Amino acid sequence: MTDRKEYMKEYLKGYREKNKEYLKEYYENNKDKKKQYHKEYREKNKDKLKKQQEEYHKNNKEYRKEYYKSNIDKIKEYHKEYSKVYRRKNKNKIKEYCKNNKDKKSKYDKEYRKINKDKIKKYSNEYSKTHRHIILNNIHKRRLRIKFTDIDSKWLKKLYEDTNTCEVCNRKMKDKSIDHILPLNVGGLHIKSNVRIICLKCNQQRPKNGSDIIQFRLL
Ligand SMILES: [Zn+2]
Repeated sequence: MTDRKEYMKEYLKGYREKNKEYLKEYYENNKDKKKQYHKEYREKNKDKLKKQQEEYHKNNKEYRKEYYKSNIDKIKEYHKEYSKVYRRKNKNKIKEYCKNNKDKKSKYDKEYRKINKDKIKKYSNEYSKTHRHIILNNIHKRRLRIKFTDIDSKWLKKLYEDTNTCEVCNRKMKDKSIDHILPLNVGGLHIKSNVRIICLKCNQQRPKNGSDIIQFRLL
């Protein structure tokens, strides 16, 4: 470094130190300007910065490895928080991107599912436990390709949660299930008046053709 450069560097350092408060205020009042300047600087010096970063990474490989290892929980937590905020902020952008990169996305999803098999299994187990009514409703709808139903998952959720005694065995239910009074396979509909919550055991013991109910109603 030339003497002149060295001198300027020292001078600037001193200047900054002496005018700390003033500079702080100045930056505070010119935040956008500063941001703009940094943005422009980064754009203009893309290659230089990239090289610098690469150089830095190369020289600090061991240190970074060590740091990463000893702070893994902190880093993970940080990434989690960051990606949460990022996703929330860029919802539309992400949506747009996914739409335009369908192949990439499906490849990524496939890869993700492969790697996180256990995690997904655990999550979907949890989900199916807490959202059983929704899943059952969807299954029924899909199975029947139902075009007509007056049941929505909100209604079913309420019925599912509010019914605690099985109307077949009159016992308090441990495992609840959605039952069609007139079974679907003999023409019963997935509608409010044909749906009830009974215990799983009673449901499984019912004859598939609904003869229990039909006889009962005829008598
Ligand atoms: Zn029962």
